[in-house]
Amino acid sequence: MTDRRNFLKNSLLGATASVLAWGGKLSAAAPESRAPVASGAARVISTWDFGVAANQAAWTILGAGGHALDAVEAGARVPEADLKNHSVGRAGYPDRDGHVTLDASIMDHNYNCGAVAAIEHIAHPISVARRVMERTPHVLLVGEGALQFALEQGFKKEELLTPESDKAWHEWLKTAKYNPSINSEVHDYGKGGTTGMPGGANNHDTIGMLAIDAQGRMAGACTTSGMAWKMRGRVGDSPIIGAGLYVDGEIGGATSTGVGEEVIRNAGSFLVVELMRQGRSPQEACKEAVMRIVKRRLEASKTIQVGFLAMNRAGEVGAYAIQHGFSYAVCDAKKQDGLIPSLSLYTTSYS
Ligand code: ASP
Repeated sequence: MTDRRNFLKNSLLGATASVLAWGGKLSAAAPESRAPVASGAARVISTWDFGVAANQAAWTILGAGGHALDAVEAGARVPEADLKNHSVGRAGYPDRDGHVTLDASIMDHNYNCGAVAAIEHIAHPISVARRVMERTPHVLLVGEGALQFALEQGFKKEELLTPESDKAWHEWLKTAKYNPSINSEVHDYGKGGTTGMPGGANNHDTIGMLAIDAQGRMAGACTTSGMAWKMRGRVGDSPIIGAGLYVDGEIGGATSTGVGEEVIRNAGSFLVVELMRQGRSPQEACKEAVMRIVKRRLEASKTIQVGFLAMNRAGEVGAYAIQHGFSYAVCDAKKQDGLIPSLSLYTTSYS
């Protein structure tokens, strides 16, 4: 009881201090409202195989005793800069009208969070999201306003549509119907044919990262170019706190990939964290969140992918997806290049 009273008191003091500290510059350096977990075991996890390189960048910070928030930002910047990655950052596939529009969010263990949606011309939306969190009183900036803020913050305006992505877009235009269909999101698992992507490549895949540092602080980041060939102005789950990303420093964090609309409808990442709060393991929580989507959308679930990845504050990890083929990367002091296939509802390829 005393502990709880102290916790409440400290939380209130922390909140008041944060408000008083406000003056255009709130930051992760604001007073912590919670004692960090004394775990001592740093770990970072990420969605998909490109998470391996992202984790390694994050580990240069975590392994040296750095802050989880710095680690996830550094990690997320790796696929954002990768010209071979067409689902995140620079070189991301554009929308139906040829505009590369990016979504990103970041959150720490203390409910500090920031996001940008449908931002154009900025190669590292994750870093803009962090500035939104630390230097504005807001959580989410979109479109033109997000770009204006980024430029004011000194980010460089760039052309993000690479010749390769432009070519892929023109290929798609040959057969494209200007008719948004959620099935344009479907994975083809390397078989080709269903996505309309050159070479049968997938037309989406977000990087979601979760980290816990040596002091037990957690943070998460999520960044994507969203669905390829989406409608102009379409925003997915990735920049929506509680959908594509959620972190609660007392419980754990979760992130998602796949058809963002389905994740938003269920407040997916928040749901995973709440299920962990109720005592589920990260694995059980991810499975339950997937099954809620499947239950509601049984027919559609056969042709769409949604995957959740979660870590609790003890550093336990779990994942679950609708379709097979989802993988996640795990990096800690023992192993920096772990890549694990996720469990999934359907274990054979959809075709
Ligand atoms: N979740 C992302 C979105 O809907 C895309 C993805 O993960 O593939 O924008």
